[in-house]
Amino acid sequence: MELCWNITSRCNKNCKYCFKFNKSDLSLEENKKILHNLIKRNVTKITWSGGEPFLYKDLKELLKISKEHNILNYVITNTTLLDENIIKENIEYIDRLVVSLDFIDDSLNAKYEIGENYFKHLKEVLKMVKRIKPSIEIKVNTVVFKGNLKFLEDLYQELLNYDIDFWKLIRFFPIRGKSLQENRLGVTDEEFQDVIDQFCHRHQKFDIVIHNLEEMKKRHIIVLSSGELIYSEGGADIESGEKLL
Ligand code: SF4
Repeated sequence: MELCWNITSRCNKNCKYCFKFNKSDLSLEENKKILHNLIKRNVTKITWSGGEPFLYKDLKELLKISKEHNILNYVITNTTLLDENIIKENIEYIDRLVVSLDFIDDSLNAKYEIGENYFKHLKEVLKMVKRIKPSIEIKVNTVVFKGNLKFLEDLYQELLNYDIDFWKLIRFFPIRGKSLQENRLGVTDEEFQDVIDQFCHRHQKFDIVIHNLEEMKKRHIIVLSSGELIYSEGGADIESGEKLL
């Protein structure tokens, strides 16, 4: 079983089209119980996300236990809290770092409330992470929406300069949270198909992964920061009625 664990709903950013959950955090002891529960269920991969997972101060403890049980740890981060020390402390337990990047132009990152120096910092993190642990996989997640359609070529060209493994293009879909108020940012089927045609057939240094509405329809298992287990399926959140604590 593979799942995504929103270890915290807190975030140090306030992106315009965010679709994070809003739940309270649990203590380390409570989350250890959940993790042992998942280990008993033979979980093989956990994608740690948030909010911003590095805001959860005991993330490293959980990553370590997970790794000791041979679980693959993927971590999705906005990178803004990462510096050399934090990377060194956590990286041995991380198999894949997934970074969110929708623009390389920091004036646009500011416009969409992602952050004024967002890319300036993120590109340093990309280099640092591979220098410290060359075997780590890096994936860049890009949400494709009306605001960045015409800048994706620049983003692609810039990414060629970094040692990344995957670039994932995610079609914007307002599923929850602030994103529900930004429906107008969604792209049409034709626009998203144009993006696929634009990038998928190139000879790349990295693999391109497409997350379209078909992907969205599949069942994804999510553990919320409160310990509830839910399914995200067909663009909707479905309660399982199960609490892992
Ligand atoms: S989109 Fe990601 S980085 Fe932005 S506010 Fe939401 S959780 Fe934070």
